[in-house]
Amino acid sequence: MSGIQGKRIAITGASSGIGEAAARLLAEKGAHVILGARRTDRLETIVAEIRSKGGKADHHPLDVTKRDDAMAFVRFAVERAGRLDVLINNAGIMPLSFLEQDKVDEWDRTIDVNIKGILYGISAALPVMKKQGSGQFINLASVGGLAVVPTAAVYCASKFAVRAISEGLRQEVGRDIRVTIITPGAVESELAESISDPGMKEKVIKDYRQDLLPAAAIARAIVFAVEQPDDVDVNEIVVRPTAQG
Ligand code: NDP
Repeated sequence: MSGIQGKRIAITGASSGIGEAAARLLAEKGAHVILGARRTDRLETIVAEIRSKGGKADHHPLDVTKRDDAMAFVRFAVERAGRLDVLINNAGIMPLSFLEQDKVDEWDRTIDVNIKGILYGISAALPVMKKQGSGQFINLASVGGLAVVPTAAVYCASKFAVRAISEGLRQEVGRDIRVTIITPGAVESELAESISDPGMKEKVIKDYRQDLLPAAAIARAIVFAVEQPDDVDVNEIVVRPTAQG
């Protein structure tokens, strides 16, 4: 099935930023979107807005760090929509800090959400897609997965891992299942909210989070990857603001 119309697309971390923008745009183009995140009040509002415009949308609570949640989310998507054409592994956090600040809990959390969260999504959806004989994973990496910058060692490591896992998955399941890495530069969202040190947050916003792209720019890249014919696997799309070095 090529195009967007009629595709069943589950999106993790759909309560804000890129996930929300992708849900809105894909629904506008005729997909049935299934939104997951922890803030279900937000999901409820987004789903109601999509439906009020004639779109098809459902939501389910999801904490990607819990394997059972990931399984239940995919099960719900298949029950509601009848199949699962695309899983967008988008949920992520970015609690930046210098390693010497020793924020071990935040390192753990970054690994749990950004790496294990994606693996749990793959674990839940891959058997479904294999049985269907088709499917697509869209995994959100970052330009932080291409080069490391100070304060971002653990975040960058998690995004290098996303790219490695995605490439490994592509090589293993290539024929029937497509795997796309989306690699954004600086994009307007709530991502910097996970930085716990106020001074660090201010520095990061000043150094890295100016001239941001709207989240819709990344949603359009996702649409491009999804709408290609089945034999076209867009492996990776890197999208930066023109002003980003
Ligand atoms: P936001 O903070 O706006 O969105 C992050 C989403 O992830 C939220 O919907 C949040 O929902 C969800 N999330 C966080 N933790 C969990 C969890 N444990 N379980 C389920 N959902 C969770 O940021 P973005 O939209 O920017 O981030 C989306 C992705 O894009 C991330 O992977 C990020 O690393 C990546 N990215 C973003 C860039 C940017 O500049 N914005 C640049 C490069 C990559 P909730 O809290 O409700 O659970």
